[in-house]
Amino acid sequence: MNHIDKGAPNSQAIWQDLDRRHHLHPFTDTKALNAKGARIITRGEGCHIVDAEGKKLLDGMAGLWCVNLGYNRKELVEAAANQLSALPYYNNFFSTANTPSVELAARIAEVTPEGLDHIFFANSGSEAIDTAMRMARFFWQAAGKPEKTWLIARDNSYHGSTIAGTSLGGQKEMRKQGGPLLGDIAHVPQPYWYGEGDGMSEDEFGLARARLIEEKILELGPDRVAAVFGEPIQGAGGVIVPPKTYWPEVERICRKYDVLLVADEVICGFGRTGSWFGCQTFGFTPDMMTMAKGMSSGYLPISAVAVGTRVADMLIENGGEFYHGFTYSGHPASAAVAVATLDIMQNEKLVERVRDDIGPYFQNGLRTLLDHPLVGRIDGVGLIAGIALVKSKAPKTFFDSAAKAGMRVRDHSIANGFMMRAVGDRMALSPPLVISHEEVDDLVRIVRQALDLTLAEIG
Ligand code: PLP
Repeated sequence: MNHIDKGAPNSQAIWQDLDRRHHLHPFTDTKALNAKGARIITRGEGCHIVDAEGKKLLDGMAGLWCVNLGYNRKELVEAAANQLSALPYYNNFFSTANTPSVELAARIAEVTPEGLDHIFFANSGSEAIDTAMRMARFFWQAAGKPEKTWLIARDNSYHGSTIAGTSLGGQKEMRKQGGPLLGDIAHVPQPYWYGEGDGMSEDEFGLARARLIEEKILELGPDRVAAVFGEPIQGAGGVIVPPKTYWPEVERICRKYDVLLVADEVICGFGRTGSWFGCQTFGFTPDMMTMAKGMSSGYLPISAVAVGTRVADMLIENGGEFYHGFTYSGHPASAAVAVATLDIMQNEKLVERVRDDIGPYFQNGLRTLLDHPLVGRIDGVGLIAGIALVKSKAPKTFFDSAAKAGMRVRDHSIANGFMMRAVGDRMALSPPLVISHEEVDDLVRIVRQALDLTLAEIG
């Protein structure tokens, strides 16, 4: 490799060339990427990222739903540096512990819903999911019901990309690759009212979709079902916000049949929906929660499973040794950054800010786009939103996938300075929790412009 001047202006082509030759990207069609070259991101400032050509973009995705405090927060950098100087690594295996992970566990327990106060650390959302899957089944073994092994999840859910995450997730195309997948996992339809709920009110549809979980439990036999897993809002599936009737009914059903309920809070956790966790926004209390991403504002990898009293007590009393854990479970530097993230969130009252101020401002701002011919519906709460693109509003008609409506809107938006994501024809937005009112105004303006340009092409 030749020497690269990392600070050189316009170094994009050099990086793209190396990238093409050596780098396999996650969730990427490499052939298609190689034809155009990757966008190389070199710096972050506040809510903006800067690419290798010096182009600045407002980051409407907070990285990948994670950089909740924005870029270049000195406190987080210092927390990592201080911890790396004091103790860069020590594990939490075999009767030892490092102090940042103990402190972090206690701090997380202060913000989780009542009872979810035992914390198991991992490094990614996928690992947290894998942990929760094993724990759910291990719980029933410890409870003397080892035949309760089945896990129920929803179509179009995303729970990570390890074999366990892919098996649990409901992403159809993804599930076709790299099988066979794990057994004893069943899927039920998602609570996507705008896309699938014609003929029913939103509330009726929420109940109907929850009751499909009940049907599945009865079909499998309650004595064989370990847990139901779900994201409070399906993020990677296109920001599918369930009707408000959905989660309380799912919780009621899980309690009725003695099935554990696991909330995958990897995206919704840490303030994104205007509560510490998405389950609080939607009014249910799970037995376990997975979390990652916003936990360290994405600065270092860390994830966790928060375990409720019933499960924790059973595992502690009857489980014996749990043969599970990762070398970097509770990595001291990542844990120190997560503690510093919590400090900032609490000192700056960011959860309250999302709930009372910037969240409603963002949601109201986006809803001014409802007059646009391409915008069928906008779903969202706090600082997460999904925009459904339509060919026509009445009768409601969606674009053929060949029209690539979502990709077009996304590309125009990026070209005009705003980074957002397209999931099919649903536009996904999840900006940093520290985004300013002016930046929200900017993003609404750029999204409208991108919609106009797309309309001119395919309307
Ligand atoms: N669960 C949910 C809800 C997610 O959105 C994600 C990632 O986007 C994951 C799990 C997997 O997390 P990771 O990519 O850190 O493994």
